[in-house]
Amino acid sequence: MGRLSRAAAASFSAGAHDHGICVAEAMRDAERICAGRGARLTKLRYRVLELVWSSHAPIGAYGLLERLSRERRNATPPTVYRALDFLVAQGLVHRIESLNAFVGCVDPASAHAGQFLICRDCGAAAELHDPRVNRAITRGAAEVGFVAEQRTVEVRGLCPACRAGEGAESHAR
Ligand SMILES: [Zn+2]
Ligand SMILES: [Zn+2]
Ligand SMILES: [Zn+2]
Repeated sequence: MGRLSRAAAASFSAGAHDHGICVAEAMRDAERICAGRGARLTKLRYRVLELVWSSHAPIGAYGLLERLSRERRNATPPTVYRALDFLVAQGLVHRIESLNAFVGCVDPASAHAGQFLICRDCGAAAELHDPRVNRAITRGAAEVGFVAEQRTVEVRGLCPACRAGEGAESHAR
């Protein structure tokens, strides 16, 4: 299992994996990538990234602001939005349009448009990036003379844990 599939599996096993490892790995990647690019990962940006990584469920800007303002009384919406802009621009965070929320990227070192499997029950999102999906979109778009600019795919459904939960409920009935 590659790192990405491992990360995708971990995304859907909230209680059953050591999330501290995900966070540590993400923060280490972020520091390395920003240092390599000469991009300034300020304390605030670092903290916002950590907050985004507090779980595998995408979190909205206001959710972030609420958590941030517990630590920084002067935090305002622009504080959070500016930090998010930076994190998205560096590829450390993805914006999930359909949820208007943000999730940490599991492979920020590579340039990619991700595919997201989003659980409609618990809200967890797992990231895949299969180049075949991007190629198929680019090819299909070209056939109708369309230039694809944003290829992020958001797929809604049920994660393994929630599927198991649904099964248990229907057995109990
Ligand atoms: Zn995790
Ligand atoms: Zn990503
Ligand atoms: Zn779920």
